[in-house]
Order: sequence, then structure tokens, then C-alpha cells
Amino acid sequence: MDRLEKFKALNVKQANAEADISLVNQYAIKELTPEDVFCFSVVLCDNEIDRDLERFSDATLQEFTKLFVGKTGISDHRWSADRQVARLYRCEVKDTTEKTSWGGKLKQLIGSAYMIRNEANQPLIDAIEGGIVKEVSIGCRVTECNCSICGKQQKFDWRSWTYQCETGHIKGESYPEGLCTGVLEKPAEAYEFSFVAVPAQRGAGVTKGAEDLDGAVEILLNADLSGRPDIVEKLIPGLKKASMDQEERAKRAEFIKFAETFRR
Ligand SMILES: [Zn+2]
Repeated sequence: MDRLEKFKALNVKQANAEADISLVNQYAIKELTPEDVFCFSVVLCDNEIDRDLERFSDATLQEFTKLFVGKTGISDHRWSADRQVARLYRCEVKDTTEKTSWGGKLKQLIGSAYMIRNEANQPLIDAIEGGIVKEVSIGCRVTECNCSICGKQQKFDWRSWTYQCETGHIKGESYPEGLCTGVLEKPAEAYEFSFVAVPAQRGAGVTKGAEDLDGAVEILLNADLSGRPDIVEKLIPGLKKASMDQEERAKRAEFIKFAETFRR
């Protein structure tokens, strides 16, 4: 599967730098003191159904504790000159007393991270403490997304524009057993976590890969669109823009070459 980006409302607590400094120093290049660092714990993800109608399995959360520890936290340039600003020194799964919407016990993956207290990082520390950072996102890759009802793998079907398992359960549809969702299993990689200021749009987290686009193009190329002027009309502006962009790029490349001959 492609890389996933999952968002979670920021739930952060200051951690005890004094108590954690030896853990921090496992990942630090030079020996740090508690005064050198800002330590915090953050909910990275949980086993609740997200806005993509997917959830991590409990086993996936457990695997993530091993995969995420040591990974970096990144920020955009709004807050920091360096993009890599934090590092996770501890990850654990915490049981809560709450229930998930699908009836299980809510479990959270909690990461403890440190940031160096310096001038460059201070704006981000202030933004976290001031509640300006609204969300945290994690980047990861899992190998399977399985049907919550029968456990079979879900695949995207371009014809019906839905995710389906081979039994025919459609993601997002309700069945006597409950809502069909995707269960993310067998994590392969954890990349990093990031601080997000503005809540991302619903569903903006997952970007379809080029292989998916190729599949859609193939269907479109073979489709008889003569009876569907509405679709054709919708496609034309995008196609025009793409071809104009290409022309524009070629012109620009020519101009750059031209300008370079002058510089010599
Ligand atoms: Zn199924």
C-alpha cells in the first residue's frame, strides 16, 4: 500500500524532562541536561475509525511502538528554521476507559518526544503550549487494509469508485454486523510525525498513487463518453490546463537557457 498520512487532534502534555533525560540521551548526539530540552507526550494515533473510514488494529498500534521510537517530529517553516524539530524517545500503547465507535476499548499510541530548547525551536514550543498547533499527523505504511466485517483484503474498485473486499462488503456501507470500515494491519514502516496548524480537510490525508491514476485513465480511455457530455465538459478544463502547463514549462526552459548564455 501507499504511504498513509493520518491526522489526530493535538493532545499534548508536558513530560518530565528530569525523569526522562537518560532516555532522551539515548537519541541525542551530545549529552543533554533536563534544562536543555522540552519534553512532551503526544497522542500519535489510536484505534478509533478515522475520517477515511479506516482504523489501526490493536496489533498495529503495538507494532508502531517499536517502529516510531527514535523517529523525528517535523514542523513547517512557520515555526522553525529546522524542519526536524523533535525526536520520539518512548512510545507506548495506553488503554483508556473510553469505548470506540465500533465497540472496542479505546487504545492510544502515546509518543514521548523531546525538543532542544533554543531560539530556533522556541516559536514552536510557544505554539504547542499556546494551542496554536491543532493537529498532529503521522506518516506510515501498512501492508494490508482489511474488511472490518470478514477480514478479507479491501481493494479500490474504479468502476464503482468504492473500496471492496472479495466477499463484496463495501467500505462505508452498513451491514447487520455493523459499518464496513478498513482495518489497517501489518505495519511496514513509520516515517515521522508532524505538527499541523490548520485542520486538514476530511479525506485529505490519503493521496492516491500514480498506479491508481493509471487505472482510472485506462478506464476513461476505453469508455464510450459520447453519451456523457457532462463528463467530457468536466474533463476538458483539466486537460487544457495540463497541456498549457507543459507548453509553459517548455517556454520557460527555453528562456532560462537563453538567459544563461547572457550570463557567460
Ligand atoms: Zn468483507
